[in-house]
Amino acid sequence: MREKPAQLVPLDAADASGGQSEPLFGFDAESLSRLLVSAGEPAFRGNQIAEAMYRQWLSEISEISTLPAALRVKLAAEGWQVGRPAIARAFQSVDGTERYLIELVGARAKSETVETVWMPEGDGGEAGDEGESEQDLRAPSFPRQFAERVGENKPQSALDPETKDWSRATVCISSQVGCAVNCQFCLTAKLGLQRNRTAGEIAGQVVAVLERQAVRIGRDRVNLVFMGMGEPFLNYDNFMAAVRLLVREVGLSPRRMTVSTSGIVPGIERFALEPPDLRPKLAISLNAPNDTIRAEIMPINRKWPISEVIAAVRLVPLRPRERITFEYVLLGGVTDHPEHAREVARLVRRSGLPAKVNLIAWNPGPGIAYTMPSPEAVAIFHELLIGEGIAAYIRQPRGRDIFAACGQLKRTMEA
Ligand code: SAH
Ligand code: SF4
Repeated sequence: MREKPAQLVPLDAADASGGQSEPLFGFDAESLSRLLVSAGEPAFRGNQIAEAMYRQWLSEISEISTLPAALRVKLAAEGWQVGRPAIARAFQSVDGTERYLIELVGARAKSETVETVWMPEGDGGEAGDEGESEQDLRAPSFPRQFAERVGENKPQSALDPETKDWSRATVCISSQVGCAVNCQFCLTAKLGLQRNRTAGEIAGQVVAVLERQAVRIGRDRVNLVFMGMGEPFLNYDNFMAAVRLLVREVGLSPRRMTVSTSGIVPGIERFALEPPDLRPKLAISLNAPNDTIRAEIMPINRKWPISEVIAAVRLVPLRPRERITFEYVLLGGVTDHPEHAREVARLVRRSGLPAKVNLIAWNPGPGIAYTMPSPEAVAIFHELLIGEGIAAYIRQPRGRDIFAACGQLKRTMEA
């Protein structure tokens, strides 16, 4: 790593990539101001950089025209760059879903990509569902040749905001490269944990997609779900720092964000202490009706059984009308019996939480010995829950022709 003058050493080392040049993307306005002050510049230059990166979505220091040319040159000469992750490739589904390969910036990340999924929705039926984000986030595996490569290198061709054909969309994002939790049904688990993503990388993948889709902040309804690769609560600090960047600097609403966890109790307990106006909604990957089955398919349950997870969730002070989501992956013959539905209903009722259940038909993947539930089993499970007075939804597959399944990301790119 090149030498930098002492005064330009990053203040928040957590967000520095350690590569050839340091990304500015990831520092909030306050840290940027401190950084600039330490370099002998006025504090407002930090705000200008934040404005440029997070509001105007500029990705090169040379483009930040509010900064004097000499300062732009100085920053670059001293090894700084905006360093926002870029969309390297984009795959487009017939249903409008897009899947992006996001290239991480920095030397140690050269060979690493993560995936982000954009799911536009029509205008059908979502009106008034304040902050709801249940949509389908996974899809069955499809032959690779169905995927259409629509861009390479730098496909950030912003769409014309007036002609775009969505009024609500969801971005599914990754918090880690791989995952250490080892759920038996999940493809990401097969990768193991490769590394945590920094706050700048997590927030950067979102901004890259917002730019590509020409999203109008404050006008378009864009939901974010932390349901891509990784366990956000095992990368807690970076995950929450990314949320703060996205809320405070980029201007997205935390009410339209949902974080999903496999039930990392210390993470949920920390989450409960976050200011409610600065945290996403919470989804718990329940996935089984009882501890016996859950421990089989999610070994993490041996450490934190269902009762402990629910006790931790109860600590989270909910906003008015906010509900906890229980995600429930239906595995054929394993978790999809009618009796399981009744057990889930009892469990949810007994939790006393305002909650809803999102049913997800399991998506198959290579080397995973489960079977998909039959459509009838899914329908019966859903009806039973509804009959028991539980709010329950079935996620419909999206982007199935391009492997846009959140539970299946990454592996599908490996030829
Ligand atoms: N690690 C977090 C968030 C990412 S996984 C978590 O586990 O909650 C997001 C969701 O995808 C989880 O609810 C998980 O149970 C589900 N999932 C994982 N693999 C899947 C698959 N093959 N088919 C359907 N859903 C899957
Ligand atoms: Fe990790 Fe979530 Fe997959 Fe479990 S389901 S292995 S926690 S990404």
